[in-house]
Amino acid sequence: MSETSKSSPTDDTPITDLFVIGGGINGTGIARDAAGRGLSVTLAEMGDLASATSSASTKLFHGGLRYLEYFEIRLVRHALQERETLLRAMPHISWPMRFVLPYHRDMRFESGTPTSRILETVMPWMRGRRPAWLIRFGLFLYDNLGGRKLLPGTATISLDGTPEGAPLEDRFEHAYEYSDCWIEDARLVVLNARDADDLGATILPRTKVTGADRTDDHWTITLEDQRTGGTTTARARFLVNAAGPWVGDVIQQKVHIETNEGVRLVRGSHIVTKRLYDHDKAYFFQGTDGRIIFAIPYETDFTLIGTTEGEHHDPDVDPVCTPVERAYLIEFANRYLAADITDADVVWTYSGVRPLYDDGAQSATAATRDYTLKVDADGAPILNIFGGKITTYRRLAEDAMDRIAEHLTIPKPAWTAGAPLPGGDFPVDGVDPLIAELKSSYPFLTDVHARRLIRAYGTLARDMLGDAASFGDLGRDFGATLTEREVAWLMTREYAMRAEDVVWRRTKLGLRLTTDRIAALDTWMTARGAP
Ligand SMILES: Cc1cc2nc3c(=O)[nH]c(=O)nc-3n(C[C@H](O)[C@H](O)[C@H](O)COP(=O)(O)OP(=O)(O)OC[C@H]3O[C@@H](n4cnc5c(N)ncnc54)[C@H](O)[C@@H]3O)c2cc1C
Repeated sequence: MSETSKSSPTDDTPITDLFVIGGGINGTGIARDAAGRGLSVTLAEMGDLASATSSASTKLFHGGLRYLEYFEIRLVRHALQERETLLRAMPHISWPMRFVLPYHRDMRFESGTPTSRILETVMPWMRGRRPAWLIRFGLFLYDNLGGRKLLPGTATISLDGTPEGAPLEDRFEHAYEYSDCWIEDARLVVLNARDADDLGATILPRTKVTGADRTDDHWTITLEDQRTGGTTTARARFLVNAAGPWVGDVIQQKVHIETNEGVRLVRGSHIVTKRLYDHDKAYFFQGTDGRIIFAIPYETDFTLIGTTEGEHHDPDVDPVCTPVERAYLIEFANRYLAADITDADVVWTYSGVRPLYDDGAQSATAATRDYTLKVDADGAPILNIFGGKITTYRRLAEDAMDRIAEHLTIPKPAWTAGAPLPGGDFPVDGVDPLIAELKSSYPFLTDVHARRLIRAYGTLARDMLGDAASFGDLGRDFGATLTEREVAWLMTREYAMRAEDVVWRRTKLGLRLTTDRIAALDTWMTARGAP
């Protein structure tokens, strides 16, 4: 199955085993897994890789503490198990993070979770509360459901006179502290695509699937190059619909199949402020409306606050953080922060659409975050993917391969657990030594520059820097430590085509570069030409 082949003497378009629609985390994760198992794979992404939901997440590998209140035990256990597997495979772009959950006994919540309903029935005087023992029990489960070797467990900490208490209102005297992991979501996607490519897959960014016709044994897929408008066709034995928010659009408008499954689009927005506090822990804030938000150290000099949840009806309408969502997040955070933030403190916002499996839940908050895989084999097979989280992408890909194996012969077994992503072949605690080594080989790098490169490229930072003996050897300086050599690397190795790909997804240097500089970068990239 691994070789591309011709299906009939009359049509010489090669037939690949797998064609994946969508270059978000689920599509690239499946492409990588499948390519490593010896299948021939093509992936088409209509925008830049990770240009939709997979660059707009809260960027956590997490079990999802709040899902325990919805009894989503399977999801939480799987996600918790995944955290350390993923962390080991990508210690450059993922790292452990401690979360501080401030607690005050007078806190009241409006909550319709299954747990709060039981509590109200059994202990009516508990109505509107999330008692301390319940939080401790949740954290006990969180510590133990998925197993932990690397991440420290829950602790109770004092907020009185401590760094963790400093940014908070005085009324908070105690907090619980637990572990999850940070993940650079957009880089995760591009590294999966890179690895898939290295394993033989064809990755086609800015290529839209506009239609797919089915015979009994293969699909003929029509592709439109989003830069030139040119169309081509591809053929594949098995089609994977990993179109995220567009999963329904692909089903109805592109492949025209019947299904009872649906997707529920739930928009989530974040705001970014200048750095609000001086330590590297994140906060978990509980709201009076029963929701929670995070405040997280972001890109060294900033704080990320989010998220919101609201219905979003059309995937083609770009999600943006609305003034109402902005005000909601500011007000929510200000119930905890000693020094109130205002609209003027917001330096950037972003918004994404969760493509949740429609399980008929009443509210967006209650809709399941677990994934559902559905194969339609009424002719050449198609796998439609609903829901899922960044955290569960590797397992989702393995489950997808199990479903694909019912229709294609897969030459090799599962392999991704324990296999590092490009640049991630070093120990979880190896970032600081790697930075020191890089600085000693390239003494002209500042601390900030060296750290950024190791956090982005890991052991491949050296390949990117090559024979440079001075900063000037890295070519044109685009500002904020971004140089011509790095941009060229991003264009040849990481599919970057426009400045926005570089400054908002391969890096987050857009937070530090002026619009003029970003425009100059775009002009330079366009003149250099796409790879
Ligand atoms: C606000 C928010 C916060 C979140 N926080 C977290 C978190 O902290 N941790 C976590 O684990 N998960 C989190 N998630 C969930 C996670 O981000 C998503 O589940 C995940 O990114 C979905 O990935 P995907 O590949 O399915 O979709 P996408 O990333 O949207 O990828 C689908 C891709 O398909 C492409 N496409 C669509 N139609 C076509 C076509 N016809 N031809 C070619 N390409 C097409 C799109 O352009 C898109 O890039 C969050 C989500 C949101 C919105």
